[in-house]
Amino acid sequence: MSLQSETRRRRTFAIISHPDAGKTTLTEKLLLFSGAIQIAGSVKARKASRHATSDWMEIEKQRGISVASSVMQMLYRDHVINLLDTPGHKDFSEDTYRVLTAVDSALMVIDAANGVEAQTRRLIEVCRQRDTPIITFVNKMDREVRDPLDILDEVERELGMACVPMTWPVGQGKTFGGIMNLRTQTMTVFESGSERLPQDFETIPLSNREELLKRFGHEFETAEQSMELAIGASPAWDHEAFLAGKQTPVFFGSGVNNFGVQEVLEALVDLAPSPGPRMSHLAVNKQMVDKQVHPDDPNFSGVVFKVQANMDPSHRDRIAFVRMASGKYTPGMKLKVQRTGKELRPTSVVTFLSQRREAVDEAYAGDIIGFTTHGGVQLGDTITDGASLQFTGLPFFAPELFMTVILKNPLRTKQLQQGLAQLGEEGAIQVFKPQIGGPMLLGAVGQLQFEVVQHRLKTEYDADIRLEGCQYTGARWITADTPAELRQFMDAYPQRMALDAANALAFLCTSPYDVRLAQERFPKIHFHPLREHA
Ligand code: GDP
Repeated sequence: MSLQSETRRRRTFAIISHPDAGKTTLTEKLLLFSGAIQIAGSVKARKASRHATSDWMEIEKQRGISVASSVMQMLYRDHVINLLDTPGHKDFSEDTYRVLTAVDSALMVIDAANGVEAQTRRLIEVCRQRDTPIITFVNKMDREVRDPLDILDEVERELGMACVPMTWPVGQGKTFGGIMNLRTQTMTVFESGSERLPQDFETIPLSNREELLKRFGHEFETAEQSMELAIGASPAWDHEAFLAGKQTPVFFGSGVNNFGVQEVLEALVDLAPSPGPRMSHLAVNKQMVDKQVHPDDPNFSGVVFKVQANMDPSHRDRIAFVRMASGKYTPGMKLKVQRTGKELRPTSVVTFLSQRREAVDEAYAGDIIGFTTHGGVQLGDTITDGASLQFTGLPFFAPELFMTVILKNPLRTKQLQQGLAQLGEEGAIQVFKPQIGGPMLLGAVGQLQFEVVQHRLKTEYDADIRLEGCQYTGARWITADTPAELRQFMDAYPQRMALDAANALAFLCTSPYDVRLAQERFPKIHFHPLREHA
């Protein structure tokens, strides 16, 4: 198959939702119906085992488990579908944002009883910044839920996307009769249970109205009316608007009952985009110029969007997850880490087939491959087979929570430094080194990150630490047009300056006014709330 056909048949998407909306269930059904797994309950079982333990143990397990389950590949209708899970904990971590930079579309799961919830809102914000196309699945129609019109209205209002219904529910809860498929003009009849395959559900053409009225009576009439209202209120389907993140196709169903799921799988193939071009910087005569890397470019390129310590704590190896942007990967090919110019020498290279990791035979743009290494790779690194380009767009967010690190046993300083450097490189936490000396500072977006890091420092690096609160509540990365201006600024705020893990200079703030005041005093200094990997 040509390179072009390989990239065209790929779909790489993230599944996003508020906890408990049914993301795990839906993931499992997608894997099941594509034939990627044989037994229902296996994704679920792993999730259940995570809940049985104490809070940080759960996180620890999740981290281990997620190596195997955060990326899943399946084959459906001759398409290669890469599904990326987003961490589901309420303490939103930066990991999630970065996963969203590695996909070409997203599948949003909404609990029909709860509508748009907090975490969904935040995730969608990130998707919208990147104009990521979103497919919507309204789940749990077998329950007493809200009026579908109401839900569409809320999605439109809260998430700022026009909804275009692709299926429409007949009844809900006890009276849930099924869904009307607007494309095929049929009604699929609901039955509860998790044994049924998609083709086992009965379908009745909508043209057979008499039969539908006889069987579903009042519910069917009401559904017809509300569907008409919904269609009247929504714009006509516009594929370009969907690709620009301005329209979302909406599907209804019940994941746990295998119902309405295949329609989503079809939509991923038929509607979701294949990998598109990605922005990068290219060095030309020592100047950086913007370059779009096309998926069909024959040269290998990809970006590390996640680094994870391997599951075996006795080995210091890590898996660098690379989202391929172009070319073809074949085993044994020579690859370079752009930041260092060094050859990448992985001990293994794996692909993620639902629950197994397997050696990669070949991979193409859109695929996620995992390089196991002993170091030398950082979050945001660009990997190529030669070209000196650097992908842009992997975000680091200014932390909002800060803690001071106090080492309990001062003899473990070396271990602590090594641990913090590596965890900082992984992006598990942001590490700031105050310029005037003193203890290191940890910065996080979610509280949970502190617990994970504290636990990992102890178990993986034998460095027992205590975390103490400190006065900082924010940070801004600092740049200036001239070194003199920067120097002046640094001299004015010596106690506030710190370097992060990538040696980028940051200004630590104690209140939102800090930045404003500093900006007024130094109008020429640039304060950045977000740092993109340079
Ligand atoms: P996640 O936290 O988003 O991954 O959600 P889960 O997939 O674990 O689902 C949360 C709960 O909702 C579980 O108890 C599921 O069995 C249940 N659930 C998922 N889908 C449905 C559905 O379609 N109908 C009903 N009634 N329950 C569901």
